[in-house]
Amino acid sequence: MQDLLIRNALICDGTGAPARTGDLSIHDGRIVSVGSSSGTASREIDATGLVAAPGFIDPHTHFDAQLTWDGQARPSLEHGVTTVIPGNCSLSLAPLRARDREFLGSVFRQIEEMPKSAFDAGLEWSWESFGEYLDAIRNDLSINVAPLVGHSLLRLWVLGAESRERASTPEEIEALCDLLRESLEAGAVGLSTSFSDIDHEFRAVPCRLGTMDELRALCAVLGETGRALQVLPEFWEADLLLTRIDQMAELSLEYGIPTTFSPLFESTTTPDLVGKVRERLELHAARGARVVAQMQTRPIDMTFDMTIPNAVFSAMPTWFGTLMQGEEAIRGAFSDPATRAALVEESKTDRRPIALDFQLGQIRLSAATGPWKQQVGRSLADLGAELDLDPAEVLMQASLDEDLRARFTAESLAHFDAPLIARSIDHPQIIVGAGDGGAHVARFATYGDTGRLFSCFVRDLGALSLEQAVKRVTADIADAWGVEGRGRLEEGAAADVVLFDPETIARGPEELAFDLPGGGEDFRFIRRAKGVERVFVNGVEVYNASDGYSEARSGTIVDYRSGSVSKPAADAPEPIRRFTHPEPGDDWPQVAARHLADQPTDQAVTLLQSWNLHLVQRPPTNPMTPLDLVFLEPPRAEA
Ligand SMILES: [Zn+2]
Repeated sequence: MQDLLIRNALICDGTGAPARTGDLSIHDGRIVSVGSSSGTASREIDATGLVAAPGFIDPHTHFDAQLTWDGQARPSLEHGVTTVIPGNCSLSLAPLRARDREFLGSVFRQIEEMPKSAFDAGLEWSWESFGEYLDAIRNDLSINVAPLVGHSLLRLWVLGAESRERASTPEEIEALCDLLRESLEAGAVGLSTSFSDIDHEFRAVPCRLGTMDELRALCAVLGETGRALQVLPEFWEADLLLTRIDQMAELSLEYGIPTTFSPLFESTTTPDLVGKVRERLELHAARGARVVAQMQTRPIDMTFDMTIPNAVFSAMPTWFGTLMQGEEAIRGAFSDPATRAALVEESKTDRRPIALDFQLGQIRLSAATGPWKQQVGRSLADLGAELDLDPAEVLMQASLDEDLRARFTAESLAHFDAPLIARSIDHPQIIVGAGDGGAHVARFATYGDTGRLFSCFVRDLGALSLEQAVKRVTADIADAWGVEGRGRLEEGAAADVVLFDPETIARGPEELAFDLPGGGEDFRFIRRAKGVERVFVNGVEVYNASDGYSEARSGTIVDYRSGSVSKPAADAPEPIRRFTHPEPGDDWPQVAARHLADQPTDQAVTLLQSWNLHLVQRPPTNPMTPLDLVFLEPPRAEA
């Protein structure tokens, strides 16, 4: 007798094979048969009209903190997501010494935009090592977790406060490698790093002070078991992004590891970027390198109020500086005629935040409870025309009148052109991901990207088939990250199953949820699921559309796919182009000796001086680090 028999489902098994109507039987948390069934089960479900698919896998989340108070990772589970990958962008919550908790808390809150009260009220730091963190969340999970360990955390552990200031010594690199190995043994599926994040004090996050030699040493450790490297690159500039892709490709080839970066999105500020990236990824795939980009399915929308600085103002130093000074100073600035005039003037700038485009007038007032309540939904331009005010003045006046609690929404800042995105959504080197669940909680709701994949790209645009869409968010991700025994409906696989209605699956509208641990006025944006009927994790029903979430805690820390190690190619192809970073204190002969050791020094120096010197462009609030200076060999074809 089986535990569960799902009858008459339209089975999309995750491989992309044609869907077929059949049964699915489950016992002891595993799939026993797919297609036909025999015998009886203690529970039977008729799934006529519903798709049975492997549970979806979300490769890019920041659920590290939320998982300590919410093992269901709400609302991801109800969208059919049965496995999440937290620990992206160089940040995890372990390994972490007690002395660094305060600092990491500040960094995490800044980068992932989480309210301090929720973070402080929800987190009970009971761990130091990575294994201890996993033990702290393990028993309360309804969702599966395949965690990454953050490069910044490794540096913080080994170098302490100096991790924000300097490169590592050879002994410290050794210690970083040992700590990474220990974290992987405890259950991390890979390492995450970042080339561009800044902390709450506008300083580079610790991993950005690491040298290329440090990153290579860590990748060598990943290579021992073939585990993944996730990178947050300079996603807003094509040439530099291509350089980082080249770097990832060489790391992949040299150490036999899969690499992935996020985010990749369409922006009117960089119209040719995605096309160039696709070509480059194809080139590297043909060379045998494993580099995949992550692309989200939803447009970039952002909601904000005037109590804290946000990305929309990052190219306007006076605005940004004002918003950094706290509520009293903000009220003062908005009330003072001279400052107000200066802010209006600056708002007319053509400069835009990295990779985002917007017109101030198109921003909408999206929430107000006081005198502006009746105007909610209208644009700043529309309100300005009626009141004879500049849109920037409307923004300031509404904020003042609403005690800075008026909220504004900037829509379609980027990645809003669905037919354009459809060209990438089924690309073999692009993964549907970059969801960011658990982060940016009061800016936008990241949940439901999988629902949007089906509603927008399968039903509306017909850009890919139902079967292929399922494969994109199941087997393709499991394979790229080495998640063992999940992502396909096949005999013996873990019984992570989602039943959904292919005609109605979608993401619901953005709504406010007051469910953060701190309580009070802190909120987050969520989206409820549409069309997802039942979700099973390891054979146990954890959600259904009529009763909501169950009390079951059947989630687990996933096993890494042992045995999938691909050996580094002994005859690795020549790099597409060489590059190097000068290290602190270098002179020309030293850089040349390190990277062009096969030539006489004076020739090497001459050659190096002919390379392009590339300096990363960032907003003024983001400081430079040694890796921001790149010597690029001109592409071979052009040389
Ligand atoms: Zn991230």
